[in-house]
Amino acid sequence: ATENKALITLFGATGDLAKRKLYTSLFKLYQKGYLADHFALLGTSRHELSDDEFEKMVLDSIKDIPAKDGEAEAFAKHFFYCAHDVTKPEHYVKLKDRLAELDKQFGTEGNRLFYMSMAPQFFGTIAINLKKQGLITDKGYNRLVIEKPFGRDFDSAKKLNDELSQTFEENQIFRIDHYLGKEMVQNIQALRFGNPIIEALWNNRYIDNIQVTLSEKLGVEERAGYYDKSGALRDMLQNHIMQVVAQLAMEEPVAFTDDDVRVEKIKALRSLRVYTPSEAAANFVRGQYDAGNGTNAYRNEDGVDPESGTETFVAAKLMFDNYRWSGVPFYVRTGKKLADKFTRIDVVFKKPLIDIFANPDAKNQNLASNVLTIYVEPKSGFALQLNAKHVGQGYTTEPVDLQFLQSDSAKKESPEPYERLFHDALEGNHTNFASWAEIAYAWKFVDVIRNLWDIEKPSFPNYVPGSMGPAAADELLARDGRKWVYRL
Ligand code: NAD
Repeated sequence: ATENKALITLFGATGDLAKRKLYTSLFKLYQKGYLADHFALLGTSRHELSDDEFEKMVLDSIKDIPAKDGEAEAFAKHFFYCAHDVTKPEHYVKLKDRLAELDKQFGTEGNRLFYMSMAPQFFGTIAINLKKQGLITDKGYNRLVIEKPFGRDFDSAKKLNDELSQTFEENQIFRIDHYLGKEMVQNIQALRFGNPIIEALWNNRYIDNIQVTLSEKLGVEERAGYYDKSGALRDMLQNHIMQVVAQLAMEEPVAFTDDDVRVEKIKALRSLRVYTPSEAAANFVRGQYDAGNGTNAYRNEDGVDPESGTETFVAAKLMFDNYRWSGVPFYVRTGKKLADKFTRIDVVFKKPLIDIFANPDAKNQNLASNVLTIYVEPKSGFALQLNAKHVGQGYTTEPVDLQFLQSDSAKKESPEPYERLFHDALEGNHTNFASWAEIAYAWKFVDVIRNLWDIEKPSFPNYVPGSMGPAAADELLARDGRKWVYRL
């Protein structure tokens, strides 16, 4: 591994995300040698902590990771802390001095990575102050890694982006969408562009529809306060689902480089049909879970408004107006308290134009659709459903599965999304980050339905925990003569 020389400034260093994901990811990069002698992290937040206390906090968050003797302690020696209120300009001066010292001490050569892991209302303020108070270096690189959510609608996202742009250029900004760090989401491009037998069929001549399901078994848990103001449309569809869909829909990039991939994703999202309000009403379904299966109704969860109109489920039909996809619906759905926790993509191919096996005398002469399933998680792999002859006398067909699933040992070796994305940001590779243009198109698409839903009162609750959402999500496909491939 090549060492990345970097000085990381982490805003929100005492937060949940930092403790659960960020320190563990950095430790794994350290164990693999991507981070070594020339890195340091300056943690900041409102809490008053000494460097020692911060070191202990870091050690505590990595304690479950198997390590060599002394490795964790040596790693933690790269962590420093400075209490800081991000709204006070004078505090940045303290940070600046501390960073200058650390840069010298660890030989990080002016490479600065600023990571914002705190409430999004501060993102803009921090970015502006970083420049104003002189924390941006002219030696080495300056990069910004920023957590979700990126705005609440197009206007707020644009405002945030304008604020970030006062300090950082687009190619210095790394917007985290952790779905892009998942092994099988990254695999979409290998599957498509590495296999002529797949890519040759990847269009409206052979594909009937594509289905994307991000299903959660849990409810809102401790995030109720945040979730009740956000809902599934903003929390899952605008970002994760749109990013997955963009990779499924995009054209072949000139080369597998971040710039080339980005261009194609933007182009794909540009051809996504933005609905009129009445089209949006017809092509979106929202749901909220009721009590059942031994759990509370969403409205009775701690921290949720008892009259809440927030959706915990959303399904939609997306159409791309371009040469490749004209006429092919992309059906997407996501929700909480569904039957199981999994993410999968089902690509449903068209049936043969003529079914030569159709024979009124035979009983089961009904060819199934070929379906390519990409299992993202918890199992990872692909399956391809084909039709084959049923073994035995006579001639009938039946669907059979070709399957490739990653072994448990391969899965164990597979880095966590945050580890991968942290490494990409250190390397300056944008492939697995969302660009502003992609986010802007996604918001414009989502804003139409959000505006509608904010006005019209939903008839919630409308689905039982343990189901796959409201009946209307099945009707969305039934109306087109289709079904969800995954159903109970
Ligand atoms: P958190 O509330 O646990 O932590 C927030 C941090 O910000 C704390 O360290 C706090 O001290 C600090 N802070 C708050 N106000 C401050 C101020 N005025 N000045 C300085 N520091 C201040 O939040 P979190 O769950 O760690 O989330 C951080 C970011 O990551 C958010 O943008 C969130 O949306 C995103 N995110 C979190 C998760 C998760 O699993 N927790 C998942 C995805 C994205």
